[in-house]
Amino acid sequence: MRPLPTAVRPASRTSPPGFGLGLAPYELAALKNNAIFTNSRVVAVRQSSGRQLLRGEESGGAGPTVGHYVGYVPLDGYPFQVVQPVPALAPGAQHRRVFGTVLVRFEVFHYSANQVHTQISLHTVAANTNPTQHGPETHVRRVLFEARFGEIAEDNTPAFLSPAGELLAVPSFLTEGFRQALNGSRCRTCRHRSHLEKVAPIVLPPGLLQTLRLPVAHPTPAEK
Ligand SMILES: [Zn+2]
Repeated sequence: MRPLPTAVRPASRTSPPGFGLGLAPYELAALKNNAIFTNSRVVAVRQSSGRQLLRGEESGGAGPTVGHYVGYVPLDGYPFQVVQPVPALAPGAQHRRVFGTVLVRFEVFHYSANQVHTQISLHTVAANTNPTQHGPETHVRRVLFEARFGEIAEDNTPAFLSPAGELLAVPSFLTEGFRQALNGSRCRTCRHRSHLEKVAPIVLPPGLLQTLRLPVAHPTPAEK
């Protein structure tokens, strides 16, 4: 088995699976002052047929001093089941809602010209769901990459350090999604439908794929 990318690690057990970066109060206050209204939470939902899905809200943009963007890309073989464009009242708020059994979430918080925090995570509905269960226990998150206080060079290459002070690179299978989420976090008065809709479905490294219990793959809605 090929080794996993060094940045891949199991999800934190200390926060519910839908949560993202967990920004500090002063960072959240800066977003409010910049009129950026991002919802980074992934929510498990159950349709009337009993089918379990995850819902994410692509949202965010940039203000004068900070930016924050959360967007979604499907995993290869698991296309979004529903995509709803959301015309928002204000820029830097909602852009679209996506629904699927597997979502890859890209979150970038951008501040002070070229500093960023990021979290990239894989969200799945649990393979064996109990129909009587509803809520966080049916939703599993695995953090694919997370780092804070990264610096973006002029050529847009990010440089991150691990908590132990070691150089971290965004894994190659995530770089395009990261780049587009970074663009979203720099987009003033953002009213784009999505900054990530043109990113190709994510192909996980085989070693990582083997460790995941993914739901049964499903066709695109149009193929049914
Ligand atoms: Zn934009």
